[in-house]
Amino acid sequence: MAQEDVFKKIVSHCKEYGFVFPSSDIYDGLGAVYDYGQNGVELKNNIKQYWWQSMVLLHENIVGIDSAIFMHPTVWKASGHVDAFNDPLIDNRDSKKRYRADVLIEDQIAKYDEKVEKEVAKARKRFGESFDEAQYLATSPRVLELLQKKEALHERFAVAMNDMNLEELKQIILDEEIVCPISGTRNWTDVRQFNLMFKTEVGSTAEGASTIYLRPETAQGIFVNYLNVQKTGRMKLPFGIAQIGKAFRNEIVARQFIFRMREFEQMEMQFFVKPGTELEWFNQWKDTRMAWHQALGFGAENYRYHDHEKLAHYANAACDIEFRMPFGFKEVEGIHSRTNFDLSQHAQYSGRKIEYFDPETNERYTPYVIETSIGVDRMFLSVMCHSYEEETLENGETRVVLRLPAALAPTKLAVMPLVKKDGLPEKAREIMDDLKFHFNCKYDEKDSIGKRYRRQDAVGTPFCITIDHDTLKDDCVTLRNRDTMEQQRVKISDLRGLIEDQVSLTSLLKKI
Ligand code: ATP
Repeated sequence: MAQEDVFKKIVSHCKEYGFVFPSSDIYDGLGAVYDYGQNGVELKNNIKQYWWQSMVLLHENIVGIDSAIFMHPTVWKASGHVDAFNDPLIDNRDSKKRYRADVLIEDQIAKYDEKVEKEVAKARKRFGESFDEAQYLATSPRVLELLQKKEALHERFAVAMNDMNLEELKQIILDEEIVCPISGTRNWTDVRQFNLMFKTEVGSTAEGASTIYLRPETAQGIFVNYLNVQKTGRMKLPFGIAQIGKAFRNEIVARQFIFRMREFEQMEMQFFVKPGTELEWFNQWKDTRMAWHQALGFGAENYRYHDHEKLAHYANAACDIEFRMPFGFKEVEGIHSRTNFDLSQHAQYSGRKIEYFDPETNERYTPYVIETSIGVDRMFLSVMCHSYEEETLENGETRVVLRLPAALAPTKLAVMPLVKKDGLPEKAREIMDDLKFHFNCKYDEKDSIGKRYRRQDAVGTPFCITIDHDTLKDDCVTLRNRDTMEQQRVKISDLRGLIEDQVSLTSLLKKI
């Protein structure tokens, strides 16, 4: 099945099974805004818990906060967002569609990689067993030409972005003969800057009201609380502050479902370090965050680092962790070495001294910062994309199964009486009333057992138990495993021990 079709299926599966709904669905939705349904909210909360505990529970020197979405307007002046939080946009005159100029060019760069991959696949077919990929990549004239073109484009793009040279961005689009995917034409407008922050007003009267912004990132809430937390928590460098919360960006290109939203959620951690040690910490956090992703067991080959060509005005190193989505490798998390830019700016704009007194060296300085920033929704999407499978069974039937990591699954155990009579529902309720205090259980007595299993497979429930007539005599139930579909007879008293270990967040955290 084409990857595009797989993605469409995942999107409709999300809606059909109560994971993600379009916002204001009865009014036909609102662009790039989504709601999480009864299963989605559980999965999302589990992802957040996994992140939060990995930060705050596993690191003695990281604490959490929850700052407000509304902040003093000067915060965004100081941070540079009012002046520089812009995307370069370009319109196609024929389709009237608007695009991010940088995204059009990045897609073009990715096309060179796709062409190289195709050449490699063709050569592998031609040479069979004796194919040496490394040698082919180093010697094939066609591949070398493609790589050279890609490199040159990369270089030109990086310079244009660094200088925010809008004319040059347009020229690249023209020179590369990039067409609008809708109209197929090259009838482009000039490239313009567009600020991504949403504005609103606080105060009741027009004169008394002042413009404030919906925060475009949660990070600034951490920076403006640096002094509060450092002092009240008596924190010693290096230490981190973690936060999970909503962020808002007026994205120009709203596509790919929950990948790019106008209202989304971030999990950010700012790690304050002594100046001069930041690059060491930057590398350490790259490793730590990659280990967090890989502990989910989705396969190392599905992740890669992507070092930034263009560093933001505040950064001296930056890298993304990308995940293989059905629409290619895409950024899920950013790790940035933000220098002392934010704290210094806030010191300057607020007139406060924002420093750290180092008791070991008796020095005062402004700490440097390493940031790890991951989108909850993008993480959610990567989990869904990797877990969704249409499996053909031995008997030729297919089943849709969500192979979610057990610790993230919305429901851990489905409790099912074989029939709705003979005291089986009562026995099932009794078991559920005991286990529901330990993990999320769902009771289901409707339809045949086969149908009920499929329903649970489709929402990723790792275990089901069936209560039958023998249960009343021997206090045993049938435990069925989602992935292997194997069934085993187990004692009711052993259930908790057998399941809890496999579905607990603790067992996942121990894999990091
Ligand atoms: P992109 O280049 O895709 O616009 P970004 O580099 O601007 O992303 P950051 O500012 O580094 O993103 O934000 C950190 C993380 O927040 C991203 O890695 C992503 O997971 C998430 N994120 C950013 N923008 C959005 C959005 N519009 N919708 C959903 N998640 C987002």
